[in-house]
Amino acid sequence: MSALLSPSDDQGLGAGYHSPQVAVDVRLNTNESPYPPPRAFVHALATELADVAFNRYPDREARELRAALGRLHGVDPEQVFVANGSNEVLQTLLLTYGGPGRRAAVFEPTYALHSHLGRLTRTGLWVGERQPDFGLDLGEVKRAAAEADPAVTFVCSPNNPTGGAEPRAVVEEVLDLAPGLVVVDEAYGQFAPWSALDLVGPDVGLVVVRTYSKTWSMAAARLGYLVGPAAVVAELERRVLPYHLDAVKQAAGRLALRFTAEMEARVAAIKDERRRILDGLDRLAVEWWPSDANFVLFRPTTGDGRELWARLVERSVLVRDVGEWPRLSGCLRVTVGTPAENDAFLAALYEALDQGQEDL
Ligand code: PMP
Repeated sequence: MSALLSPSDDQGLGAGYHSPQVAVDVRLNTNESPYPPPRAFVHALATELADVAFNRYPDREARELRAALGRLHGVDPEQVFVANGSNEVLQTLLLTYGGPGRRAAVFEPTYALHSHLGRLTRTGLWVGERQPDFGLDLGEVKRAAAEADPAVTFVCSPNNPTGGAEPRAVVEEVLDLAPGLVVVDEAYGQFAPWSALDLVGPDVGLVVVRTYSKTWSMAAARLGYLVGPAAVVAELERRVLPYHLDAVKQAAGRLALRFTAEMEARVAAIKDERRRILDGLDRLAVEWWPSDANFVLFRPTTGDGRELWARLVERSVLVRDVGEWPRLSGCLRVTVGTPAENDAFLAALYEALDQGQEDL
């Protein structure tokens, strides 16, 4: 093949960021909602689709969607930036505030895409550690500021894949310590006891990133957004591709917000199920970490996590093997599913651990 077709230096991108997709009955590996959105939402969207001017480009500024999100959060539409999944929001943030000669601070273990996007945008990465319980370590945030002067500091709350949300006082402290923009990734924000949305203001270097992929049951639509200072949103808008958000998605995102009560009911049901999973884990030979999200991190107390993952797949249950992530050797992450899926998971785990004992 021509040398011209070789990609530029891959900056350690590896195989990219993917969760392996395996054909199983019970898929609890990507933190989606186990429930579809309400039928009434699907009907409302179908009705609106009939009126979409498909021959025309969509509203480039997604004004109606941003106004609806503004109403939801009590902010101006100019404070809302929308994109194709919160991943594109994060990428646009790094295209805008990162890049060569700049650094982003991440605190491991955390959502791997933050550093992946850092590499992709050629932003230097400053990698700090979390505390033993995986909460943010403010000493590390201070060290990042002193050593790297990061243009972007990532706070993932609740943190994927460990599950805990940061207390408000910690995020306030990060805002004091971090020299650049603080990005609070709240992909699982509705499961948490509080939201950093409360702290957003025109003169605060904070953006809060949210997604439709989890609590809104719309992972297929690929829609995410952030709330932050209007001046930041204006800079992000200058970096995205023209008409990056299609008309169908804009309508879907706007209509979904009519069904907020249903979303909240799903969140409550998933929290109940999370409790039931933890009660189940308590009876098994695993260690687990408290969760403010729709997933739980756990590890077998004896034996190998990777082997356990394979035994669960044999029983048609797919969880995420996060054993390769920093400090998570042997750990697995299970997404909270429907009651039937969670029963299947607990039964498969019981058997798989038992098989492990027999193998000893
Ligand atoms: N942030 C975190 C912490 C996540 O776990 C995920 C989903 N894995 C995302 C962002 C990306 O979500 P989206 O589907 O909106 O791109």
